[in-house]
Amino acid sequence: MRQPITYLLHLSHPLIAGTHQNRHYIGFTYDLPQRLAMHHAGKGARFTQVAVERGSSLELARTWEGGRATEQRLKRQKNAKRFCPICRCFDL
Ligand SMILES: [Zn+2]
Repeated sequence: MRQPITYLLHLSHPLIAGTHQNRHYIGFTYDLPQRLAMHHAGKGARFTQVAVERGSSLELARTWEGGRATEQRLKRQKNAKRFCPICRCFDL
């Protein structure tokens, strides 16, 4: 049986909605290559669909072992940037 993987996508351009901007998406899947292909095709989730429509590219920043519980634990912290190796590089 496949193990679930939680993943972090980093957007090349932040998505701006009202006063919020966000350039990360956290999700989980049992089939990461297929899930990433869907995101890149603009079919994975509303958030990444809009990002792709606006010309953002999506980059897989990192993954964790675990499914929904891991995803929820990371999302609750509301600071995906902290987990993102790409953003950390930009901040240096
Ligand atoms: Zn990032």
